[in-house]
Amino acid sequence: MTQTFDIAIIGAGMAGLSAARALTEAGHKTVIFDKSRGSGGRMSSKRTESGNLDMGAQYFTARDPHFRSALQTWIDRGWVAEWSPRLFVRNEDELFESSDDQQRYVGSPRMTSLSRGLLEGLDMVSKTRIERLQQSDDDRWELVDDAGAVHGPFDRVVVATPAPQAVPLLTASGHLEQAASQVEMLPGWTLALAFAEPLNTAVEACFVRVGGLDWISRNSSKPGRQGLDSWVLQSNPRWAMGNLDTDKAEVGKQLRAELAEVLGIDLPEPVFEHAHRWLYARSADTCNWGALAAPEKGLYVCGDWCLGGRIENAWLSGRQAAQTLMGRK
Ligand SMILES: Cc1cc2nc3c(=O)[nH]c(=O)nc-3n(C[C@H](O)[C@H](O)[C@H](O)COP(=O)(O)OP(=O)(O)OC[C@H]3O[C@@H](n4cnc5c(N)ncnc54)[C@H](O)[C@@H]3O)c2cc1C
Repeated sequence: MTQTFDIAIIGAGMAGLSAARALTEAGHKTVIFDKSRGSGGRMSSKRTESGNLDMGAQYFTARDPHFRSALQTWIDRGWVAEWSPRLFVRNEDELFESSDDQQRYVGSPRMTSLSRGLLEGLDMVSKTRIERLQQSDDDRWELVDDAGAVHGPFDRVVVATPAPQAVPLLTASGHLEQAASQVEMLPGWTLALAFAEPLNTAVEACFVRVGGLDWISRNSSKPGRQGLDSWVLQSNPRWAMGNLDTDKAEVGKQLRAELAEVLGIDLPEPVFEHAHRWLYARSADTCNWGALAAPEKGLYVCGDWCLGGRIENAWLSGRQAAQTLMGRK
């Protein structure tokens, strides 16, 4: 019989969930730790009286055949649905409909439906921020959280957090720590809005190439979303860097003005508004590492930043970390 391990996974975003599922399906015992209340990481959504609002990833695409095959399972299970918005582009001069016919997918009825589905049958310890790793008496790994509690021991550890949060967990391996330290992650602001009456526009999604916005989506046009006419606006990294400490009310005011400008309409007062700042939204550069490993130490690292900041890449990176750990690379 193949040897099985006790494995800790730090981070319950797409990469950590992907690694956990691959390892569990192969017979290993995994426990996922996350500092947040739920799973999903940057694939987050907020439940409000105005509907389910996707505050992180807006949609995903699927190119890799392994990812496409997993996606089909998620669609069959009802965790994911296609989203085909009327997509526009706003540049310096005009707002025009895009000819991009790429198929887009979303968690249904909210983005976190996918992470909740992937978490089924897995062990997760939530609201637990892991601060450091230490070696146990029998040379296995213990995880020390920010309250000083010790978890484990584990035979192997998979770190699946954004790069800057991985650095303090990788001090046992110089090359892993150094690789993660090199990766710059850029911030972003997300603003969610809901209106009592639908806005008078055909736009359901828009790539913005001017001003402080990057992306706009009519959240309520996504499948399964109920409630008011809701919108999610995302700033570009440059705007976010200039507004890191701006208070949320001011961020709301400025990004609402940008929305009105992009759509070319007068905006009524929203009945709901929520702003969220992402310190580590996306990596500045695309690495092509897949996943990182120090097998002699039993340490493995994955995350979108190891492969390019998208949901599909986070899933592929997690899967690759699991395969490397199992010696199947
Ligand atoms: C605003 C925004 C919009 C985006 N839009 C898109 C999009 O439209 N399409 C797309 O494909 N991608 C998009 N992305 C990128 C996509 O969300 C990410 O690529 C993907 O979700 C990353 O998954 P991950 O598992 O690598 O990391 P994460 O989702 O960040 O997961 C890491 C997890 O680790 C946890 N964690 C961190 N440190 C610790 C610690 N010390 N102890 C315990 N837990 C810890 C965090 O709480 C988190 O849950 C977007 C991202 C943002 C922020």
